[in-house]
Amino acid sequence: MQAFDLDLCELRPSATALRDDVRAFLAEALADYPPAERARSWVAFDAEFSRKLGAQGWLGMTWPEPYGAEKSALERYVVVEELLAAGAPVAAHWIAERQSGPLLLRFGTQEQQKLILPQIAAGECFFCIGMSEPDSGSDLASIRTRAVRGDGGWVINGQKVWTTYAHKSHYMIALVRTADAGDDRHAGMSQFIVDLKTPGITVRPIRNMIGDEEFNEVIFEDAFVPDTMLVGEEGNGWQQVIAELAFERSGPDRFLSCFQLLVEIVRRAHDIPREEPSNRAAVAIGRLVAHLITLRQMSLAVAAQLDAGVQPVVEATVVKDLGVAFEQSIPEIAHELFGVSPRLEGGDDFEKALAYVQQASVSFSLRGGTTEILRGVIARGLGLR
Ligand SMILES: Cc1cc2nc3c(=O)[nH]c(=O)nc-3n(C[C@H](O)[C@H](O)[C@H](O)COP(=O)(O)OP(=O)(O)OC[C@H]3O[C@@H](n4cnc5c(N)ncnc54)[C@H](O)[C@@H]3O)c2cc1C
Repeated sequence: MQAFDLDLCELRPSATALRDDVRAFLAEALADYPPAERARSWVAFDAEFSRKLGAQGWLGMTWPEPYGAEKSALERYVVVEELLAAGAPVAAHWIAERQSGPLLLRFGTQEQQKLILPQIAAGECFFCIGMSEPDSGSDLASIRTRAVRGDGGWVINGQKVWTTYAHKSHYMIALVRTADAGDDRHAGMSQFIVDLKTPGITVRPIRNMIGDEEFNEVIFEDAFVPDTMLVGEEGNGWQQVIAELAFERSGPDRFLSCFQLLVEIVRRAHDIPREEPSNRAAVAIGRLVAHLITLRQMSLAVAAQLDAGVQPVVEATVVKDLGVAFEQSIPEIAHELFGVSPRLEGGDDFEKALAYVQQASVSFSLRGGTTEILRGVIARGLGLR
């Protein structure tokens, strides 16, 4: 049974100076950025903004030289939480910097690292994640997209789905079958860096219920990928994907994606015409903030462990599960407190933020692993199943 270990962690003084720099940068760069857009948080895509962050040296900052500045994970944490708290449009570089870059640092060839990492750090190269398929989501080992050896590389056929920002990305890290599973259903999978301009790849956006086109289906019809784009070892895809998911699940993005709505709730409680905010609003806001601060402490403790080379799988999964429950409660509480019928078009900043978050937050307990799957991981880690 794994111990559950979340020691309190304090940020070093250097982190405070960095925080001031990031805040000053964001105050200028996002001076005219409306609150309703900020509510989209890490789903808003702005390639120019990502390039500006790259120029500041805030992408890939923990990576070793010559690709990064070898800063600590806690310094990166400060940058990430300031970006999220400001509702900055970070989607363009988000996946590349959070997980594709670290994956290539760990498993990629030197040639792949040289080609791709400097572009990610500059905010000029965007990635999408090609894991899910029409009949394979939680049960990822059942994927059917297949790569077959060809002359000098591999020929891929099959289909991915729910691929966030494939239509605006340069590359996909695709998990595909390169051999039959046999007795071990986790065997025979490999990861490839797929250039999305390759002939034989069709990217079709899927409109979500808000009306936005963020994720896609991606169809492979005899798409050729050179040998040089195999990531890590052939057949080791499953182990690599598990490592990749750890980067995806442990960050403050899992409890700060609705932060703008919390800000708007406080504004609304302050602005409604009465002498003081009602007790009901004060109690609700107090609870939300206490919950947020606790999650932040837990998440910081996870970041400190990652920095120390520990893999806190259960702790990171608990933060994501509690973070999602917290985020999904914010629109419910906003609705209970003020009883509005939110509108995406029209309405004030509070109504627009609420309308967006209310519809978007239903997906928070799916993306990055569903609640049931996460609780299974926690139960297994604690020796309960
Ligand atoms: C906004 C958003 C963005 C996404 N972006 C990407 C992306 O960029 N790339 C990508 O590859 N995928 C992406 N996904 C897909 C996401 O990873 C899957 O939706 C997720 O893994 C669940 O798979 P599924 O949708 O096939 O649901 P299913 O696996 O079919 O699950 C349906 C329900 O059954 C439950 N369930 C399934 N198995 C079990 C079990 N063993 N025990 C108990 N309950 C179970 C689930 O918890 C869920 O409630 C995205 C999803 C969303 C919502």
